[in-house]
Amino acid sequence: MADVPAECTIKVMCRFRPLNSSEVARGDKYIPKFQGEDHVVVGSKPFQFDRVFQPNTTQEQVYNACAQKIVKDVLEGYNGTIFAYGQTSSGKTHTMEGNLHDTDGMGIIPRIVQDIFNYIYSMDENLEFHIKVATGYVLLLRALVDEGNRVPFQTQPICCLVSDMNEHSSRSHSIFQINVKQENTATEQKLSGKLYLVDLAGSEKVSKTGAEGAVLDEAKNINKSLSSLGNVISALAEGSGYIPYRDSKMTRILQDSLGGNCRTTIVICASPSAYNESETKSTLMFGQRAK
Ligand code: ADP
Ligand code: MG
Repeated sequence: MADVPAECTIKVMCRFRPLNSSEVARGDKYIPKFQGEDHVVVGSKPFQFDRVFQPNTTQEQVYNACAQKIVKDVLEGYNGTIFAYGQTSSGKTHTMEGNLHDTDGMGIIPRIVQDIFNYIYSMDENLEFHIKVATGYVLLLRALVDEGNRVPFQTQPICCLVSDMNEHSSRSHSIFQINVKQENTATEQKLSGKLYLVDLAGSEKVSKTGAEGAVLDEAKNINKSLSSLGNVISALAEGSGYIPYRDSKMTRILQDSLGGNCRTTIVICASPSAYNESETKSTLMFGQRAK
């Protein structure tokens, strides 16, 4: 991994989705009041983030603001993590995956995969790339451009892999990992970067879901791992000497891609409906703790 941090490394973005059809049918009030590019007021409480995206923001605009720079840094040898946080149906999966079969609808993950391969094909050096995606899935690609000898890459397996994520439940975290290793075959210089893309489990309070028994235990575990994540991120944001990575399985997994000179972006996802006002406020508070 590269060693010198170039800038402040935790960014918190906030995205409001449009009112959905059942919220419209119920006549729900639309509550966020947007001010400039980085403020939103909910129930007279003001919140500030690095960016606030209104419901009409496109997938491309979200990608450009939330991920493009991190991808560039990963290709330069840094590690990074992008999270989507919010209650169920706030737009986390829409943001991370989106519609995989429609160019405009694609979310952050397929755009990242596309950007990485565009980068590989734009290189005019003797570079050899090893791209490893998610759970042990390995894809090797040699781009020996000078010999005019590019082996065509396989995008199909990546699309399949990304599609598999659609199956994940809102009661579990979904982690997609991309490792990029580069070696210049002329100079033998090596670079390695790693990126975690995390669609977190829904952050809604257990009491609201009416869960019991094993489901309740599972829900409590999820709430506990989300609060551990919040503790790690706010400790990082405060520059604290002690970062409680070991308090949850997820933060242990993400440890080498969170903090230090790693790039971290959290996309806080929220519903604009008055019906969800209290969840929306606690979601925004979570994001604020990371600032
Ligand atoms: P979550 O993953 O947080 O549970 P989803 O991403 O599945 O929520 O979003 C719930 C629904 O709202 C989906 O049908 C999704 O397509 C839609 N949706 C979410 N965000 C947006 C948005 N910004 N614009 C349009 N539709 C959205
Ligand atoms: Mg989801």
